[in-house]
Amino acid sequence: MIQGIQLIILGRQGAGKGTQCGWLSNHYVVPHISTGDILRAAVKEGTTLGKLAKEIMDAGGLVGDDVMIGIIEERLNRPDAARRGYILDGFPRTVAQAEALGAMREKGPDVVVDLDVPRELVIERISARRVCRDCGSNYTAMAAEAAREICERCGGDIVLRDDDTPEAINQRLDLYESQTAPLLEYYDDRGLLAVVNGVGPPNRVFERLVTTIDSARRPHP
Ligand code: ADP
Repeated sequence: MIQGIQLIILGRQGAGKGTQCGWLSNHYVVPHISTGDILRAAVKEGTTLGKLAKEIMDAGGLVGDDVMIGIIEERLNRPDAARRGYILDGFPRTVAQAEALGAMREKGPDVVVDLDVPRELVIERISARRVCRDCGSNYTAMAAEAAREICERCGGDIVLRDDDTPEAINQRLDLYESQTAPLLEYYDDRGLLAVVNGVGPPNRVFERLVTTIDSARRPHP
C-alpha cells in the first residue's frame, strides 16, 4: 500500500515544475522523479542512454517512449517510490507514456496537476534560466543571482542549458502543445486533473499547489 501520494505535475517548460516539485517532495515526503534530471545525469556520465539522449535533447526533441517507460518502471520499483509514491516531473509526456504508467501500477495517480503558465511568459523565463553544469541547480538570471557564476551548492559553473537556445525552446513548446497537452484531456476525462495558476511568486504558487492537491487527492484504501 502506498503511504504517501502519487502525483503527476504537467505544465509547459519553464512553468516552474522543477522548483515546485522539489518543495512538494519535502512536503509530502515522496521522491521527486524528474526525467530531465535523470537524462542529464546519464549525459554527464556518458552512458549509452546519455549518448542517445544528448542529441535528441539538444535539438529539443523527445526521447523514445519505450526508453522513457523503461526508465520510469525501473525507478518506480525502487523501495522509496514503491513505499511512499512519487512526484513525476517530465513523465508522462505522451498519451502512450500515460497508458504505460497506468499499466505499471494498479492504483494512481491520485492527482494530476496542470501548472499553468502562458507560453509568452515561459519563453521569458526560460531565456533567463541558468543552471549549474555539475549538479543541475536552477538559477534565474532575472533574480539577484544574475551575476552568480559559481553554484552555491557544489561550486560548479553556472551556464545556459544546452537545450535552452531560442530554437530548441520553441521546438519544445511546439512539442508540448502537440504531444503533451492532449494529456490534460486524457486525465480530465478520468476525473484526475486539477489546474493550478503558476503565475506569481514561487511561494504563493506552492501554497496554491498544496491546497489544490490536498482537496483533490483521493485517500488510499
Ligand atoms: P523541459 O521541460 O524544459 O523540456 P526537462 O528537463 O523536463 O526540460 O527535459 C529535457 C529533455 O529531456 C526534453 O526536452 C526531452 O528531450 C527529454 N525528456 C524528458 N522527459 C521525457 C519524456 N518523458 N519523454 C521523452 N523525452 C523526455
